[in-house]
Amino acid sequence: MAKVLVIAEQRDGKLKKSTFELLGASFQAGQAGNETHALLLGDGVADLAKELGNYGAQKVYLVQNAALKYYTAEAYSRVILELIKTLKPDVILASHSPTGRDFMPKIAASLNVGLASDCTKLAFEGGKLKLRRPVYAGKATVEVEFLGSGPELATVRPNALGVPKADPSKSAEVLSINIDLSGLKTKVLEVVKGASARPDVTEASVVVSGGRSLKNAENFKILEELADVLGGAVGASRAAVDAGYRPHRDQVGQTGKVVSPQLYIACGISGAIQHLAGMRTSKIIVAINTDPEAPIYQVADYGIASDLFTIVPLLKEEFKKIKEH
Ligand SMILES: Cc1cc2nc3c(=O)[nH]c(=O)nc-3n(C[C@H](O)[C@H](O)[C@H](O)COP(=O)(O)OP(=O)(O)OC[C@H]3O[C@@H](n4cnc5c(N)ncnc54)[C@H](O)[C@@H]3O)c2cc1C
Repeated sequence: MAKVLVIAEQRDGKLKKSTFELLGASFQAGQAGNETHALLLGDGVADLAKELGNYGAQKVYLVQNAALKYYTAEAYSRVILELIKTLKPDVILASHSPTGRDFMPKIAASLNVGLASDCTKLAFEGGKLKLRRPVYAGKATVEVEFLGSGPELATVRPNALGVPKADPSKSAEVLSINIDLSGLKTKVLEVVKGASARPDVTEASVVVSGGRSLKNAENFKILEELADVLGGAVGASRAAVDAGYRPHRDQVGQTGKVVSPQLYIACGISGAIQHLAGMRTSKIIVAINTDPEAPIYQVADYGIASDLFTIVPLLKEEFKKIKEH
C-alpha cells in the first residue's frame, strides 16, 4: 500500500497525456490498495480537476494563483513542498518533461531523498516503487528501487506507460488549498511560442525524423507532409540540426530530446548511438535508408532500404488513402 502523489501537468487549459499515464499506473496499482492523489497547479484550471478523477485520481489538490499561470521551478516547488508536509505521500510521480525534470531534482534535494529519473517502467511491490530506466545512452536498462525512508520520487518518460481509458463514472474529491506564494524571486512575464502548429516531438504519438541526407531545409517539407497526414511531429538528427535544416528543439538524441512515440519513422538517418539514445524506446521503429548495413536497422522493426525521396511521398499517399477510407 502506498500513498501516491501525481504532479499534474497542464498547459493552455489542457492536461498533458503524460499525467494520465502516471494516474493510470498508480490507479492500477491502487486496485491492490494504493491511494492516488493528484496536485493541480495553475490559474483558472479548476475545470481540469474532473478529468483527473476520470483517470483514477481519488483526491485532487487544487492550487490556483496568478503566480502559477506560467510554470516556474520556484513557485511549483514551494507548493509541492508545502503539500508534502501535510499529505506525507510515500511516492511522488511527475512526467520526465522539461518542467518535471526541472522541479523534481529541486524537490528531491530539499527533502534530501533520492530521485529516479527518466523511468520507462514502473511497478509497485509491497507499497515500494520498482522502476526501470535506461543507462549508457539507452544501451542497457537498470532496475532501481529506493533504500531507506522518505518519499520515493520518480519522473517517467512521456509515452512510456501508455494512456489508460478514461472512466467518466470515476470522480475525485477536489480540495482547493491556499498556499502563500508571496515573496517569490522569479516571475514569467511572457511566453513566446514557436511558430509550429505540430505537436512537440516528446508528446507526439508519431514522429517522422530526417537526417543529413535530406540535403537542405526545404526538403524537410516531404517529411512535414507525411507527419501531417499522421498527425505527428517532425524530428531531426543532430547532423540535420547542425546543418541548419531544422531548429534545435526538433533534435532527437543524447544532446537533443528523448522520444518514445507509438511510431518513429527515421528517414535517411544512419542510427548513430547518440541518435538511438533518443528514440530506441519508441514502440514501432521504421527505417528508410539506402544503406542496408546502416546501424539504424539494428533497432528497426521495419526497414525500407531505398531512397527516401521516393518512399516518403509514396507513404504519404498510402496513409492518406487509408485515412480517407
Ligand atoms: C557528444 C555527441 C552528442 C551527439 N548527440 C546527438 C544527438 O542528440 N542526436 C543525433 O542525431 N546525433 C547526435 N550526435 C551525432 C551522431 O554521432 C551522428 O553524427 C548523427 O546522428 C548523424 O546524423 P545522420 O544520421 O543524419 O547523418 P549520417 O550519419 O551522415 O547518415 C545519413 C544516412 O542517410 C542515408 N542516406 C543517404 N541518402 C539517402 C537517401 N536518399 N535515402 C535514404 N537514406 C539515405 C545514408 O545511408 C546514411 O546512413 C552526437 C555526437 C556526439 C559526439
